[in-house]
Order: sequence, then structure tokens, then C-alpha cells
Amino acid sequence: MQLRICHLYGNLLNTYGDNGNLLMLQYCAREKGIDFETEIISLDQPFDPSKYDLVFFGGGQDYEQFIVSKDIQDKAAGIKEYIENDGVVLAICGGYQLLGHYYMDASGNKIPGISALDHYTLSQDNNRFIGDITIRSEEFNETYEGFENHNGRTFLGENMRPLGKVEKGMGNNGEDKTEGARYKNVFCSYFHGPLLVRNIHLANRIVDMAIAQHKKKIAK
Ligand code: GLN
Repeated sequence: MQLRICHLYGNLLNTYGDNGNLLMLQYCAREKGIDFETEIISLDQPFDPSKYDLVFFGGGQDYEQFIVSKDIQDKAAGIKEYIENDGVVLAICGGYQLLGHYYMDASGNKIPGISALDHYTLSQDNNRFIGDITIRSEEFNETYEGFENHNGRTFLGENMRPLGKVEKGMGNNGEDKTEGARYKNVFCSYFHGPLLVRNIHLANRIVDMAIAQHKKKIAK
């Protein structure tokens, strides 16, 4: 079996070492005897929702996010279809923000997202949330450790649930003790560092979900 991975805008949103998540997913897949093929889909390239078993969307700086926010509108329908059909997604920080309604950048510009998920992100003046963070996932009964670095303050809509509850650190917005987001087979987080290297249970779970989706597609 070979898993097909789409690395969305992997040549633009790759600033914070998030790509290490892909290495970790590859490691976990190979441990299970499964091959792993990654394709970068970036500016002016179509996104085919039927092609992938997992989509990875990393974080970046405001400038790159602005460029991506324009291009991704052409891919929005495909990405939404993929998500609604239970496609597995891991989105970190900037990628997480762009899956929501909008992102206010540090200079006060409103950067549109694609509203695939029901959350929005405000900015904060002359401050970033930087530091170690610990969260607890009630859904999986697990604790995740990581490092956050973001200006954005994200607020989840009604049909979204957080990835975990903040035990130490700032999380989505520094106010409501939520961190990251979950919707269907989508995982979002502000953890850099990367998230999966320090949290192998989560890495294995995401690989298992991707395998399940792959098998479902083959069975059709
Ligand atoms: N530029 C965004 C912010 O500061 C995203 C940063 C990131 O991906 N770490 O909130």
C-alpha cells in the first residue's frame, strides 16, 4: 500500500519546521510497512480531492500567508469537498488559520480564508504567543506537548471542538483555554516544533486514519 500525501503550499508555508510532521508520518507509515508519497501542490496548481489520503498544510509568515490566501480561493471547493468526504487533514498555525473564515494579520489586514472550517482569527498588538504548551485531549484521553509561536488569536465556531484543553501556555486565543481544532478527520494546531515528533500517539492515529481512508477509496 502507498499513501498519497498532498503538502499544500509546501514551498511557501514551511517556516517553522512543520515539515518535520511529514517525516514523522512517513516514519510511522513505514513502521507499519506502508509506503508514502508526498506531492507539493502550490500556486496555480489544481487540488484534486479524490487523489489524496492525507493533506498537510503548514504554517508561515504573514507575507506568504497573504500570497497563499489569494491562490487558495481557487482550490477552496476541492478542499471543502475533500474535508466533507472525511479526508484526513493536518493543518498547523498559518494553514489552520487559512482553513477558517479569515485571519487579521499583524498589520491589521484582513486575509480571507476559505471557510472550510468555522473559526476566525484576530490579531493582537505588539505581542505573540511564544513558548512551551501542554494540552489535554478529552476525545483521545491523551496529553500533547509542544511549542507555540503565533500572533493570531483564533476563536472556534459552534460546530468545532478544540484539539485539546490548555493546561500550560496560551493556545488558540489566550482566553478560553482551547487549543487547535477538530472537525471530522481534520486536525488543526498551533504547535510547531513539530507537533507529531513529540506526540507519537497522534502521529500513529493520523496515519491509521489515512490508511482507513485509502482502503475506503479502493473498496469503492
Ligand atoms: N503569521 C501567523 C501568526 O503569526 C501564523 C504564524 C505561524 O504559522 N506560526 O499568527
